[in-house]
Amino acid sequence: MLDIAIDGPSGAGKSTVSRAAAAALGFIYVDTGALYRAVGVAALKRSIPTKDREAVAAMLPELTITLAFVEGEQHVYLNGEDVSKTIRLPEASMAASDVSAVPAVRAFLFDLQRNLAKSNDCIMDGRDIGTVVLPDAGLKIFLTASAEERARRRFLELEQRGTPVEYETLLQEIRDRDYQDSHREIAPLKPADDAVTVDTTGVPFDEVVAKIVALARETMDALAASGKTGDALHD
Ligand code: C5P
Repeated sequence: MLDIAIDGPSGAGKSTVSRAAAAALGFIYVDTGALYRAVGVAALKRSIPTKDREAVAAMLPELTITLAFVEGEQHVYLNGEDVSKTIRLPEASMAASDVSAVPAVRAFLFDLQRNLAKSNDCIMDGRDIGTVVLPDAGLKIFLTASAEERARRRFLELEQRGTPVEYETLLQEIRDRDYQDSHREIAPLKPADDAVTVDTTGVPFDEVVAKIVALARETMDALAASGKTGDALHD
């Protein structure tokens, strides 16, 4: 069993790269940002201020969040309702970042993430997968790109969708979220000591995916040669 942790800032391409690499490897792909987004959406639905840590923590016992894989695509359910589309609304991004700084929220989502990794070969992406959730993952990648490049990609994506947003606004949003995610006391965004950093600035998508698939295959070969399991490679 091999678990691959992919962490990095917003907009570095973690989800598209992870999805493609998982498909090439026959692994499941778990997008943990979707779980934090679902908690953020739950707070928004209840008109709970997402920066009010006590109110956010108090809401958690009312929530059941589950993931299901439908034709390889991850769907997120909040109390039985499929919120996979709602969690992608722009207001859900900052709400997710706000609630993710609440220790009770991280504890609430921890077992769900661990259990998914335990029972599957998986690529899991997020901010703290290599450092906190799967510290024994057989392969850890820190996927990054300059803030300008990430804003440019987001700009093109939104323009193609017919919902353009000014580049400067996107760049500022990316910088704000980077700052908030890297400066929180709990599970701040940072590379694990044993992570391989992959900077995707100016690198074509296919090349990034090929690099990750190659690293995964090297890891699997090393595991097979050593007779160890994925989780034990770093013991
Ligand atoms: O990856 P995505 O942009 O969907 O994540 C939304 C927010 O959830 C991030 O800005 C981050 O604050 C939070 N998050 C986290 N830990 C993870 C995944 C996401 O704190 N493992």
